[in-house]
Amino acid sequence: MRALVLRGFGDAAVEDVPDPVPGPGEVVIDVACVQPSVTECMLLAGEPIAMHTVLAERLAAGPTRFGGHEFAGVITALGPGVVPRPPSPRTPPSRIPPSRTPASVSPALGAPAPGAPSAGTSSAGYPSQLDLATRTPLVAAFPTSAPAGGRPDSGLAVGDRVTAVETATCGQCAACRRARPDACRSPEVLGFTGPGAFAERVVVAARTVVRVPDGVPAAHAAAVQPLAGAIHGHAIAAVKPGDTVLVIGAGVMGVLHTQVARHGNAGLIIVTGRSAAKRALAKRAGADLVLDATADDIVAHVMDATDGIGADVVFECAGEFEQAVRCARRGGTVVMVSVLSDHAPAPLARLRERSVSLLHPRSGAGGYAPGSTVFEHALRLVQRGDVDLQGLISHRLAGVEALPEALEITRYKGRYSALGPAQVDLFDWNRA
Ligand SMILES: [Zn+2]
Repeated sequence: MRALVLRGFGDAAVEDVPDPVPGPGEVVIDVACVQPSVTECMLLAGEPIAMHTVLAERLAAGPTRFGGHEFAGVITALGPGVVPRPPSPRTPPSRIPPSRTPASVSPALGAPAPGAPSAGTSSAGYPSQLDLATRTPLVAAFPTSAPAGGRPDSGLAVGDRVTAVETATCGQCAACRRARPDACRSPEVLGFTGPGAFAERVVVAARTVVRVPDGVPAAHAAAVQPLAGAIHGHAIAAVKPGDTVLVIGAGVMGVLHTQVARHGNAGLIIVTGRSAAKRALAKRAGADLVLDATADDIVAHVMDATDGIGADVVFECAGEFEQAVRCARRGGTVVMVSVLSDHAPAPLARLRERSVSLLHPRSGAGGYAPGSTVFEHALRLVQRGDVDLQGLISHRLAGVEALPEALEITRYKGRYSALGPAQVDLFDWNRA
């Protein structure tokens, strides 16, 4: 198969590599759509951010494969021990009403074709045990059932349209045994600890796989991982009904946080953005007040809009930590979504003086497998039209050979007027 191979920092090309073989508990997924994350672009280029040392060590040993955790595809093989979901009587697909379908979705990718192989029964029912808090053990990521006398099935079958949670905990270390998956000592991270989906096919652990609901196109399923991260961010911030939410930055994470806030029960939502296009996107995402980060006095506007109190919760998505703290109310909360350098200036005295809480979402992960329903929740929001991912998809490229170009566009979004990562479509899963 063809896959992105890294021979040195900044030296990534699509080459022939052996087809992947699933090991015990694994499945093979043909990649329909994949998008790079900015973090991956920076690491591939050799920038000294977290994980750089690990990648440098791997490169010292020879060419390696890296990246590709935001993707969607179709299961083509189950490895040893992965018990297929038993066939069930076919039920009519639960299509979303046409009026809720994002208008700009291309017809070819926007709806399942009649009779498509995996468009039958819906995926796992909406999780009644949904708990997005970080400290509570969560239910299994995919449904299992144990027929009398048989092994639990995986809930998966060849032909399923899926994505995958990128982080899989080991399930055995002291942290995992204490129901603290975010502290797992040896998690597997797709594309980071092993080859990811910058390829025609990817192998993942079955327990990380999440089925994509009917009507959600591959382009949106591939983009759901950052949305899961935004949902997690709101969960840890415990946004209360009527809270004033300030989102600093209208990039991908800012727009997703805005939509999650609007979908939830935030009161006033204020968003700052540098470009007119991003500010327009923030407005469409549900912001009540959009400020120009290049011209407006952000702190003054926020104080004015909140009767001098400040925002209850600030999601900092643009590297403006000082501004975030100055905009938070006394006793408020700042959630650090952006990644700062080691010794970025920090107004610690003001944090202390105003009793502002500082929270950090777990690194790069909307959810962990097994044990996460955040991805499923995110996919439901997309299926219902509560969250629109289409507005963040400005560049779509065709074929696996376009991966280097997608990395370039995603790394330099401003240069290419990209609003989100450049996506690569490998095949149309409606025609699979
Ligand atoms: Zn563990």
